[in-house]
Amino acid sequence: MIKNKTSKVIFVMGVSGAGKTSIGQLLAKNLHVDFIDADDHHPTSNIEKMSAGIPLTDEDRLPWLDNLHQIAKNHLNIGGVITCSALKEKYRDRLSRSIQDEIVWIYLKGSYDLIYKRMQNRNHHFMDAAMLKSQFETLEEPKDAIEIDIVDAPEIIVEKIINEIMMKAEIGVIGMGVMGKSLSRNLARNDFKVALYNRHVVGKEENIAIDFKQAYPELNQAQAFDDLQKFIQALERPRKVIVMVNAGAAIDAVLKSLLENLEAGDIVIDAGNSHYKETNRRIQLLQDNGLYFIGTGVSGGEKGALEGPSIMPSGDKLAYQKIQKYLENIAAKDDNGRPCCTYVGEQGSGHFVKMIHNGIEYAEMQLLAECNSILKHQGLSNEAIADIFEDWMKDLGSYLLGITVDILRKKDGDVYLLDRIMDKAANKGTGKWATSCIAESGVAATMIPAALFARYLSFFKEQRQMAAAHFSIQNKSSEERKVAKEELKNAYQFSRIINHHQGFSLIKSVSDQNEWKVNLSEIARIWTEGCIIKSDFMKSLANTSKDENPILFSEPWSSILKKSHKDIQNVVIKNVTNQLHVPCLMEALNYFHGIKIADGSANLIQAQRDYFGAHTYQLKGDESGKKYHTKWSD
Ligand code: NAP
Repeated sequence: MIKNKTSKVIFVMGVSGAGKTSIGQLLAKNLHVDFIDADDHHPTSNIEKMSAGIPLTDEDRLPWLDNLHQIAKNHLNIGGVITCSALKEKYRDRLSRSIQDEIVWIYLKGSYDLIYKRMQNRNHHFMDAAMLKSQFETLEEPKDAIEIDIVDAPEIIVEKIINEIMMKAEIGVIGMGVMGKSLSRNLARNDFKVALYNRHVVGKEENIAIDFKQAYPELNQAQAFDDLQKFIQALERPRKVIVMVNAGAAIDAVLKSLLENLEAGDIVIDAGNSHYKETNRRIQLLQDNGLYFIGTGVSGGEKGALEGPSIMPSGDKLAYQKIQKYLENIAAKDDNGRPCCTYVGEQGSGHFVKMIHNGIEYAEMQLLAECNSILKHQGLSNEAIADIFEDWMKDLGSYLLGITVDILRKKDGDVYLLDRIMDKAANKGTGKWATSCIAESGVAATMIPAALFARYLSFFKEQRQMAAAHFSIQNKSSEERKVAKEELKNAYQFSRIINHHQGFSLIKSVSDQNEWKVNLSEIARIWTEGCIIKSDFMKSLANTSKDENPILFSEPWSSILKKSHKDIQNVVIKNVTNQLHVPCLMEALNYFHGIKIADGSANLIQAQRDYFGAHTYQLKGDESGKKYHTKWSD
């Protein structure tokens, strides 16, 4: 059963005698919304003119159209049916200005002969039937209206209208993979009317969306397709389509077919992990075709997408406002009940921020892997390590730390599952993109590359096995291997502060380079829930200054860095002598040492550059910015 519920304002239009009033009244009654007859809102001067059989001019109609526009605005969100002739397109434009997306136009279409016959049988109407002809001459048939033939009885016409309105989906999702399915269910659970589509590949991918719809009761009201044109037809205008397919060639293939089927004003939302520079290109491509493209990062994995992800949209702001309610409703909510979804900025800034989110995630995961490996090296069991991490949760709570406790405790029969898993870490490319971006941007965000390269190194399993056999490792006594638990905890916290400092510095720098004006505290806020790097630390970052990355020089982090500096040094020294691979812990310490050296070693680099390449150098104490060159040898 389709529920007769709409919050739209419905304009029923057509020439006099098309049955607007009786159909409008019946429609309003069935939808349980107010009925408004536009003729009741003419200024007296217009009524007098019409009664005298004098046609209204465009100027006469202006105050009337403005009255109706205001009435429509008053009915936004509660719904209403307004009957109105609105024969010219410019009248309809005036009526619907600024509220186009909340309005549905119904055009009651009938032949001159049929309507003329009906008009002749009418009494007490302001307009003489003889003026009908001029109405037909004036009529500019609407393009975006739902067209209904008036030959049927009013009850049938109203049923058809309700079906048309109710059947149109508010938003569509393309790609019924892991994430597309979860997002679709999330939209449906939030009472949005959704259309689902997955490509049809004969013998391989058939009825994917239809089978999926049938598997979940919350998708009762959803419409499922494996025919793209039918999917597009099922969407209300402007069409809003979330594309949740693999990044790269797949998204371009989908965009190509969408460009053939969508119309100006429609909005495409790429919610996959696309590269932000590709998003910039696609925004331009769609803009050239009169369409809007919103690139949005979505974090939280399958579960997050279903229960509330963190969402990072960017692109044209006005287009974003048309899809804002969908994204905000399905997003996770922060501690104050606000959606973990914010407009990040222009161009592909949303996908950029998601890429850095993933980069920070790489380093956070690597740090936990290193802490686990250090504790394991001391002979601790998985359960004992889980106990330690569980204890850390009390004041260093994070999603990744929490799932690590679960992973450590997970058994497969009698053995711990973790011990059976191959030590080769895969990746899907966002860490590589983040690392390339770091190199391009000139920001010394060293922990993300360190985490990426640790994954790469892990992949050389055979080579590692050979090297392990070839290069002996000196076994230390358990006392020598021991790292104090509190020291390790402090080293972990120290490294996380550096990791977040680097990540936010990178966002700030690239945002400045592109003039995106990304609000750092808003980014931290939308990362407090619904995403993989959510943590208590992130919550505290969300309350800080929006323009500057505050981490290094603000309390409490500055004091924590000072206090735990010795601990991380001890941890790193111990693990260097123990020959453990701890690149992220080392890199955090290295970076800290690099950033706090006021007088560094780069003077020699500059001298060398000038020596072999005449690249020039600046002199200490010379504020003029003057470049010097020396002839270093004869
Ligand atoms: P997935 O399960 O592999 O699903 C991919 C979807 O894309 C499938 O519906 C697939 O259709 C469709 N597709 C692939 N190539 C296509 C083409 N050429 N034309 C049309 N459709 C095509 O992937 P996913 O995990 O949902 O990820 C989707 C996007 O979200 C990716 O960009 C991913 O990086 C991002 N993401 C994933 C996660 C996660 O935890 N999984 C988290 C955040 C973001 P068929 O079934 O017909 O092949």
